[in-house]
Amino acid sequence: MEPFIPQLVYFEPNALKYPLGQELYEKFKKLDVEIRETTSHNQIRDLPGENDSQKYRIAKSTLVVGIRKTLKFDTSKPSAEYAIPLATGCMAHCHYCYLQTTLGQKPYIRTYVNLDDIFDQAQKYMDERKPEMTRFEASCTSDIVGIDHLTHSLYKAIEFIGGTTYGRLRFTTKFHHVDHLLHAKHNGNTRFRFSVNSDYVIKNFELKTSSLEQRIEAAVKVAEAGYPLGFVVAPLYMHDGWENGYLELFQMISDKIPKELSDNITFELIQHRFTKPAKRVIEKNYPKTKLEMNEEERKVKWGRYGIVKYVYDTDQAKDLHKTIEGYVQQFFPNSVIEYFT
Ligand code: SF4
Repeated sequence: MEPFIPQLVYFEPNALKYPLGQELYEKFKKLDVEIRETTSHNQIRDLPGENDSQKYRIAKSTLVVGIRKTLKFDTSKPSAEYAIPLATGCMAHCHYCYLQTTLGQKPYIRTYVNLDDIFDQAQKYMDERKPEMTRFEASCTSDIVGIDHLTHSLYKAIEFIGGTTYGRLRFTTKFHHVDHLLHAKHNGNTRFRFSVNSDYVIKNFELKTSSLEQRIEAAVKVAEAGYPLGFVVAPLYMHDGWENGYLELFQMISDKIPKELSDNITFELIQHRFTKPAKRVIEKNYPKTKLEMNEEERKVKWGRYGIVKYVYDTDQAKDLHKTIEGYVQQFFPNSVIEYFT
């Protein structure tokens, strides 16, 4: 998996007043990537493509460099108090990805150059909560590692949080392009999590992401660099032979992670779910997907804001939970399961 290079880049004119904006402009000029101007990162009107499918694919390889104006951080995450907005959108093509629904007509990737404003806001949140810790999640609206070789925003966020007493940073990724992050002064304040899955799920549903081997090799590197390490096993998906598929996954992680680095690993376990609007958009973007989204076979779960989600039925969810928890305990007895949901 090669590091992401956009096919097309848009700049908000004011973004060029920031050092990161300038740096990115020079970088893409040198790389000979087509550069266009946009008045706002929220309104790209002239994206190429003859139909919705082409437009969607081109948008996913388009980067928009802009200024983050809304500095209020979102709070809707189980694993952190706040979502820190470093980027929005992702170049990968995971069929189940919820960004397809949440980003709607704007699947292009946005990166924000006013990092100091974002860090000032984060500092305010920490000051309000201290002496409680404040956890920031950097991957709620993107796979931030996937673009960080271009922007180094995550690198800077890691060092910023590394310098705080009451801040913690976390993010999850399916990319292995971590080398530039290994030397960041993280101070143990950042938990680096890799999203992993069975071979079946990765091959069928996680297109344009790093392979499992690459993700695990990257996990070893970040653990060796002293980062607290975690794995997000999501979505847990009951395909034919899933028990064996996930067993092989845990076996492989355990074979590759040196024993001295395998203590204090965290696991987050999230079963596959979908909503009716998500199903419609997935079937539109990936019409040949094998992803099973049969409402009749699922249980209804009421989410926040009255949104109906379809999850596995109670017996299946129990089976899934017990089996995966069993693998975690078998292969990583000193690890922590943060949640199963
Ligand atoms: S890598 Fe993550 S953010 Fe990107 S498409 Fe896949 S699930 Fe979505």
